[in-house]
Amino acid sequence: MYDIVIVGAGPAGLTAAIYARRAAKSVLVLEAKAWGGQIINTPDIENYPAAAHISGADFANALYAQAVGLGAEVRLEKVVAVEDLGKRKKVRSTAAEYEAGAVILATGSENRKLGVDREAELTGKGVSYCATCDGNFFRRRDVAVVGGGNTALEDALYLAELANKVYLIHRRDSFRGEEAAVAALREKENVEFVLNSTVTALLGDKRLSGVEVMDKLTGEKRVLEVKGLFVAVGRVPENECFRALIEVDESGCAVAGEDCRTKLPGVFVAGDVRTKELRQLVTAASDGAVAATAAVQYLNG
Ligand code: NAP
Repeated sequence: MYDIVIVGAGPAGLTAAIYARRAAKSVLVLEAKAWGGQIINTPDIENYPAAAHISGADFANALYAQAVGLGAEVRLEKVVAVEDLGKRKKVRSTAAEYEAGAVILATGSENRKLGVDREAELTGKGVSYCATCDGNFFRRRDVAVVGGGNTALEDALYLAELANKVYLIHRRDSFRGEEAAVAALREKENVEFVLNSTVTALLGDKRLSGVEVMDKLTGEKRVLEVKGLFVAVGRVPENECFRALIEVDESGCAVAGEDCRTKLPGVFVAGDVRTKELRQLVTAASDGAVAATAAVQYLNG
């Protein structure tokens, strides 16, 4: 039996572990993939206070070392269910079952799929969801990025340095992401904006050889002969293990306020998985601190 089981070892979960350990609670953190969460794919973090430049991987490793150094136990196991036993909660992973006085859900989010035919089949064969992980495979090739948020803009900027040509496909004529990044992309000679357009087909036999895009205004279709398609159309909350336990909103986010408390006593949520306005590293870390403090208060009665 642990005082607190934390599901997810991203910035929210590991920060929660630090705060819970500093309050002398026993802490188990369960993580399905790798500690650090989505931040490990960021080459350079520029907006975390007092760390003007740090890679996502270095940030994740430092955070992990800090949590483990304070006595948090971290296990790489996928949590499949969280159950309410009243004063205790049961957390079932693919490897074991655990009981805890309180649970903090910090499961984050996963890449939204584009929803085009053959997307799954061609993933890893030209279709990617991570420019910083896979961009290097497309040096001096033509590639496309789809999306209009900050991730798509940053991916296009990153790829413009590696690839021969980058098409940036977006379904509207204005971007959701920051204007500064849009301006930087306009300066790049090898970047072409393909606006008001959607991807209608993925071409190629064993590997991607092109994408068909349709202009939404004219209905005209054209083929972009690209070897890589980087999908950056947002993220969806990872809520499978607790969807039956607590309330989620229409987008699948766990419903909780800034106090990170759910309606179920003893269950707290932190980071991208909860309803919130600003999903950033700094707000995930902040949530971790808030959720752990709330969990400690709950356990202390
Ligand atoms: P996002 O801001 O939600 O943007 C997703 C984009 O994908 C939107 O432009 C959306 O189009 C488009 N889209 C969604 N579904 C689509 C579909 N089925 N087909 C085609 N296009 C689709 O997601 P994000 O860029 O991953 O960013 C997530 C959060 O992280 C944001 O808050 C962002 O600011 C933040 N972020 C910050 C930084 C930074 O601070 N440096 C870097 C990366 C991300 P519409 O615009 O038409 O809805």
